[in-house]
Amino acid sequence: MNTIDTHKALDCLSDSLKSNAQKSLGYPVAKDFDYSFLYPFLQLPLNNIGDPFTPSTYKVDTREVEREVLNFMAQLFRAPKDHWWGYVTNGGSEGNLYGLYLAREYFPKGMVYYSQATHYSVTKNLHLLDMPRVVIKAQENGEIDYEDLRQTLQINRHITPIIFINIGTTMKEAKDDLKKIRQMLDELAIEDYHIHADGALSGMIAPFLTPRPAFDFADGVDSIAVSGHKFIGSPIPCGFVLVKKHLRDKIARSISYIGSEDTTISGSRNGFTPLVLWYAIKQLGKEGLAQRAQQSLQLAEYTENRLKEMGIPAWRNPNAITVVFPDPGPEITHKWQLAVEKGITHVILMPGTDTHQINAFLEDMATTVIPKGEFAMID
Ligand SMILES: *Cc1c(COP(=O)(O)O)cnc(C)c1O
Repeated sequence: MNTIDTHKALDCLSDSLKSNAQKSLGYPVAKDFDYSFLYPFLQLPLNNIGDPFTPSTYKVDTREVEREVLNFMAQLFRAPKDHWWGYVTNGGSEGNLYGLYLAREYFPKGMVYYSQATHYSVTKNLHLLDMPRVVIKAQENGEIDYEDLRQTLQINRHITPIIFINIGTTMKEAKDDLKKIRQMLDELAIEDYHIHADGALSGMIAPFLTPRPAFDFADGVDSIAVSGHKFIGSPIPCGFVLVKKHLRDKIARSISYIGSEDTTISGSRNGFTPLVLWYAIKQLGKEGLAQRAQQSLQLAEYTENRLKEMGIPAWRNPNAITVVFPDPGPEITHKWQLAVEKGITHVILMPGTDTHQINAFLEDMATTVIPKGEFAMID
């Protein structure tokens, strides 16, 4: 291809992707960002190899910016002062893998508990880590079944539990109640345990909710993973993980080749995405983030109400931006890129979704003839 053809191909791809982004309502990605000030950094071989808090021999890095991002998040998640650690990851999955890895190194004989509604990547990660596990039932709304958890913990009281909780499940955005789980552990007189929170989407919303859900360090988690490209928004998938520092110290190894410590999952690490997160935080601040959460909640309420008015049994979990409803058929799910699972689907009212888009979707829902009796019962 000559240069003109190459540029034409790129224009064509860019147009088609922009149009696809306009019609994407089913996946949790914010679309309202503009990182054009960061473009010059794409001309540098950035690499944050090694530990964000230990300087490396390689200096084309954004470690300082990465630490600022982590500091902001540590405060937001009420991490114990001077006793936390973390890094910017390639996404929520890596952060979850990391939390489980640290838990395994600290409690090599531990048993992992997680609900049926947990993200599909977790089973794979536990397989990679070769950790024994018990899947706990999920309630109808996607929250873990506390009675099933209690009974299972009771049977295995001699084994240290590693509890993987969801702060916003993938399909129904349900939040497991950390207060209830901590109380359960107390009642069962279980003293040693690790709690990891998967806050891929809602970790970035929960700090701004009233009532504030129990999910962070002050509430008793030992590690937490969040995605950066979901609620904050990023052109490149990313995220961050925060942990209590002693867990990280247990696995740290000093590596002379990089002049830093090997404390992360991958070797070379993205030096651009910390800039993305940093820029978003600087632009928005806590107030801006809180405002975005409010806007999403309002749009979710609007969407839920409009669907109900059409006679569609739509619902959502308390303070969720995900509206769940029965599968309306392939015409709509293809057009609006909606994920379907066991007869249900959802729209997620992410920042950057405007009323105009939602109204176009609602119009499609209203004009598509769906035999009401054929709605699968919500499970
Ligand atoms: C998206 C998601 C993940 C995976 O995060 P990635 O950033 O895509 O790796 C994990 N858990 C939940 C609940 C999610 O919604």
